[in-house]
Amino acid sequence: MSTATTTNGASSSAAIAGIPVPAGVKLPIYMDNHATTRMDPRVLEAMMPYFTETFGNAASRNHSFGWEAEQAVEQARAQIAKLIGATSKEIIFTSGATESNNLAIKGIAEMYRERGNHIITQATEHKAVLDTCKRLEKSGYQVTYLPVKADGLIDIEDLKNAITDKTILVTIMIANNEIGVVQPVEEIGKLCHERGVLFHTDGVQAVGKIPVDVNAMQIDALSLTAHKIYGPKGVGALYVRRRNPRVQISEQINGGGHERGMRSGTLNVPGIVGLGKACELAGEEMESEAKRLTAMRDRLKHKLESSLDYIHVNGTMERHLPGNLNMSFVYVEGESLLMGINDVAVSSGSACTSATLEPSYVLKALGLGDDVAHSSIRFGLGRFNTDAEVDYVADKVIDVVQKLRELSPLYEMVKEGIDLTKIEWAAH
Ligand SMILES: *Cc1c(COP(=O)(O)O)cnc(C)c1O
Repeated sequence: MSTATTTNGASSSAAIAGIPVPAGVKLPIYMDNHATTRMDPRVLEAMMPYFTETFGNAASRNHSFGWEAEQAVEQARAQIAKLIGATSKEIIFTSGATESNNLAIKGIAEMYRERGNHIITQATEHKAVLDTCKRLEKSGYQVTYLPVKADGLIDIEDLKNAITDKTILVTIMIANNEIGVVQPVEEIGKLCHERGVLFHTDGVQAVGKIPVDVNAMQIDALSLTAHKIYGPKGVGALYVRRRNPRVQISEQINGGGHERGMRSGTLNVPGIVGLGKACELAGEEMESEAKRLTAMRDRLKHKLESSLDYIHVNGTMERHLPGNLNMSFVYVEGESLLMGINDVAVSSGSACTSATLEPSYVLKALGLGDDVAHSSIRFGLGRFNTDAEVDYVADKVIDVVQKLRELSPLYEMVKEGIDLTKIEWAAH
């Protein structure tokens, strides 16, 4: 780092790399909004009174402290229900989507055990679904993990063929958290209801970002969480259908019978108020925000594609979340790429499981090789990103990829027209 001198005196690594930082852009830049989001100040403002003045326990039935808390909780229930086309009574509060997924899947599996023991999910679900299914396999349930096509979507025919008379539940997410593809949820819901199977969906990445309607999509249970929609961490909800059919879920946390006996525990009133407010804002601003994020996403994509070759998008763009862009930069070493753009917070195609760096199981499910998976980046644009940030990130990635490729013998060979698949490599 001895030559880290810059003309304008800036000391950031960006200046070292020679990419000018546009006015108004502060480093590091957060572009990882599928992992979590910054809380909207309007959400914080709504929550504040419920930490101090209005601190009652929503389950206290005999004084005004309790009534006020309960009233706030009921308002939040209505705000959440409105966003997904449900009714207030169908909303159960939880600690987040991991708990909601556990509650829905285990709760339905237990409750409907006499009807059957077969569950269907898909390979690219979030671990909160996959690990829950794996756990159920240990206690006698059978789970089918549907593959996805190269575009990231399931084949509805595969689902049709997988349903048996033992099938009690299908759990397939609406939008994927890595590659942003939106599954054909309406078709899935319709098929499930025709076959008398319950349909749970992990709606975390979709709710508040794209229109979700539990009736049009024939969803029986839906998980959501506040911190992915500019609300606080540690609070979420599970929608549980009450009519056509009335879904029953066995409680996974016992003690007191809160939430109509489905989830005991004193309610996190400030968090719930925050989740409600976040849903209200998402509903009001979804259309304009989706337009803005789509434009930013496309701007980023076009900039990268017009300066770099051998890059590709993962997951179909035909059915895609507005703020998601997952791209592979072939012939670039993944870790070096991430190091090179260390003033930008994004996610890579590598998942840190235990001590080893494993390639993302989602990208592998699309058919990507380990190297290409490792050299992939998930850009997650959100409410607080700006065009200037997009421009800086694009310039930075282009610069780093070009520099790394200058050092890559593979890239040189490809440019010279050598077919890498025909090369016989020496000793392994
Ligand atoms: C973040 C996320 C979860 C987990 O939600 P928590 O509230 O953090 O437990 C589950 N599913 C998907 C698709 C997610 O993106």
